[in-house]
Amino acid sequence: MPVNQLEVHDNVVAFLHGTKDLFIDGKFVPSASGKTFDTFNPATGEVLATVSEAQEEDIHRAVTAARRAFDEGPWSKMSGAARGRLLYKLADLMELHRVELAQIDTLDNGKPIRETSRADVPLAIEHFRYYAGWASKIVGQTIPVSGNFFNYTRHEPVGVVGQIIPWNFPLLMAAWKMGAALAMGCTIVLKPAEQTPLSALYLAKLVQEAGFPDGVVNVVPGFGETAGAPLVNHPQVDKVAFTGSTEVGKLIMRQAADSLKRVTLELGGKSPNIILPDADLSRAVPGALMGIMFNQGQVCCAGSRLFIQKKSYDNVVADLVSLAKNIHQGSGIEPETQMGPLVSDEQQNKVLGYIDSGLNDGAELLVGGTRPFEEGYFVSPTIFANVRDDMAIAKEEIFGPVVAAMPFEDLDEVIRRANNSDYGLAAGLWTENIRNAHYVANKLKAGTVWVNCYNAFDAAAPFGGYKQSGIGREMGSYALNNYTEVKDVWINLD
Ligand code: ADP
Repeated sequence: MPVNQLEVHDNVVAFLHGTKDLFIDGKFVPSASGKTFDTFNPATGEVLATVSEAQEEDIHRAVTAARRAFDEGPWSKMSGAARGRLLYKLADLMELHRVELAQIDTLDNGKPIRETSRADVPLAIEHFRYYAGWASKIVGQTIPVSGNFFNYTRHEPVGVVGQIIPWNFPLLMAAWKMGAALAMGCTIVLKPAEQTPLSALYLAKLVQEAGFPDGVVNVVPGFGETAGAPLVNHPQVDKVAFTGSTEVGKLIMRQAADSLKRVTLELGGKSPNIILPDADLSRAVPGALMGIMFNQGQVCCAGSRLFIQKKSYDNVVADLVSLAKNIHQGSGIEPETQMGPLVSDEQQNKVLGYIDSGLNDGAELLVGGTRPFEEGYFVSPTIFANVRDDMAIAKEEIFGPVVAAMPFEDLDEVIRRANNSDYGLAAGLWTENIRNAHYVANKLKAGTVWVNCYNAFDAAAPFGGYKQSGIGREMGSYALNNYTEVKDVWINLD
């Protein structure tokens, strides 16, 4: 499935040409070792671009620049309003370059251009605008304590932040990490995922153009153990913010514990999506399918456990299968593509491995389960029936277009089964009954509950996990806490 070069913006063609360097202290520089790595177009398996590879020495350079920008200014001396103006400017520049940003994420990750241009890029732009507004509204409290004291709190930025992000929403995850941190006045060393470093580097160009002071934002593509780990372990980093697998999240928390760095984590999920008998099925069925198939299922909050009340189970499953058969798969850059390839051959093999495990465990494969094309890392939309709660495909995060459909009898049973998971990132519920909606929403142990919708996001609404899905919340006013140290000041008035 070769990419039609005519459809790619000139700026993108130019950007993909030549080695893409690290962004450190306001400049694009090669890695200290001179090492590079390739990034691939998952629709074809071909090399897309060559990127300088950050390792320990580069991480040290980036952290030192971020430290200086934080400790000595000008960042720390700028007003919140001035920080906000830069964030607005960055958002405006992203808007000007929205076509390029969308195409870069589509080429690097594989996701359909209709999604990058309608979801990833606009959400990322609005994210920066939302936090631009917050930058001038960071306030402490005055506290009426006992005795003759004046007591107040200062909400101070936590300092230099190491941010490590995954490949599933490359630009949007960078925005989620950077927005709140910059609004609060922190400085950043961002490590994008090795599979998808390009949009973060393009964003770095816009950061430079917007006029952020040198060292405030640094972007250091590289691998987990050789770039991520030195960032987590660096003594001059005050806080680590991570989005990725639960396994690596635990590792990072253990490593950060040595110096008690602040840590926030946005990790995996196995989210339940529940269709009650009183649901409007004309909305619930396509909604549930989108809930799992969006972004090829490579979404931490994907609705991968689909609970359907017994009465409507057969109808719902039949409708899901016929809708799934009509999903148009192809190269993400083609405008008609509804589902692109998975990000890598590794991910494709992992997902196909889970499909095998479902078959071996006795689940019934209703549709999909195969590679639809010879070329590229595609997996067709896959629906399993007859899934038991204890099967691996019902318990473990697959991170692919695979849904386990499971019948249930009554409300309390489905709540118990939905909550019977180590994860607790999100949940969906489809019902026309307001009492059921509130009853179930209150009982689900999940950071987000979507009722009669799924995968709805807004910069103003917090997102994050219960249990092993994470610590802390991104977005909304809540994310500011991740980047804040609270200082309490006592002034003796006697
Ligand atoms: P996935 O399995 O989906 O690729 P990971 O959790 O492995 O998710 O990766 C998410 C991010 O974490 C990537 O940027 C990756 O490079 C980084 N990473 C992986 N291992 C480590 C590690 N040991 N320390 C720090 N970062 C890591």
